[in-house]
Amino acid sequence: MPALIDVTIDGHVHTRLCNHASGEMEEYVQQGVQRGLATIVFLEHLEAGIHYHPRSWLEDEFVYYFEEGRRLQQRYRGIIDIRLGVETGYNPAAVSLLQEKLALYPWDRIGLSCHFHRHGESHLNLLSRRRESLEQLAAIGVNQVISDYFNALIEAIGVIDCDVICHLDAVLRHYPGIEFNEDHRRQIETLLDGIRSKGVALEINTSGIAYRGSPFPAPWIIKGALQRGIPLFAGSDAHQPEEVGRYFDRLPEYLQDLQD
Ligand SMILES: [Zn+2]
Ligand SMILES: [Zn+2]
Repeated sequence: MPALIDVTIDGHVHTRLCNHASGEMEEYVQQGVQRGLATIVFLEHLEAGIHYHPRSWLEDEFVYYFEEGRRLQQRYRGIIDIRLGVETGYNPAAVSLLQEKLALYPWDRIGLSCHFHRHGESHLNLLSRRRESLEQLAAIGVNQVISDYFNALIEAIGVIDCDVICHLDAVLRHYPGIEFNEDHRRQIETLLDGIRSKGVALEINTSGIAYRGSPFPAPWIIKGALQRGIPLFAGSDAHQPEEVGRYFDRLPEYLQDLQD
């Protein structure tokens, strides 16, 4: 039986280029080598039509990203395989702009996520820990925000060609006592059906272990993916070099238990 997940590949790391992570691309590569990874996939943030400050994604920096990425691929040839991908946030109001931006570069991997909620003329960050931001989202209505988030992902999976869906249930991850209701659970089932029919993988994101003691998404969602035969990709979502491959040693057993 094939392994449930390949933990020699870290499929999701960031760098200082996104403005909210630290460390040079090469430092992430070096950490990957130290951890004994076979492959490291940079998955830098891309957004379209989002009004949010300070900017937490790349624009022109993608030019440097590819230049430096190509240099590192040469330098580390035979030591570690380096891939240059993108984590594209979904914005239902800017789909064609997003598709245009995605068409600009030859990504090795496209991850799909949704980080922002529209609020008047600007956006709120669904993954932020900032109290003010959490209060504004609560004022809109936590259930509504969660519901909009899953609807956005369901729509996104139909219109964005992607390889993997990232940290599926990380919405409002910093909101105390966050819980999904029956409607949200039905949305997640619909989303999993969409993921399967598009041949997309589900990311097992080990940043969740740091936040809440278990990876994103929750065990029942992973079970739903396994039942549907959806492939699983490991991702650390490193925002500091030392986070590359974090907790990957725990994944095989954790996932095995979910399959039984
Ligand atoms: Zn980030
Ligand atoms: Zn990420």
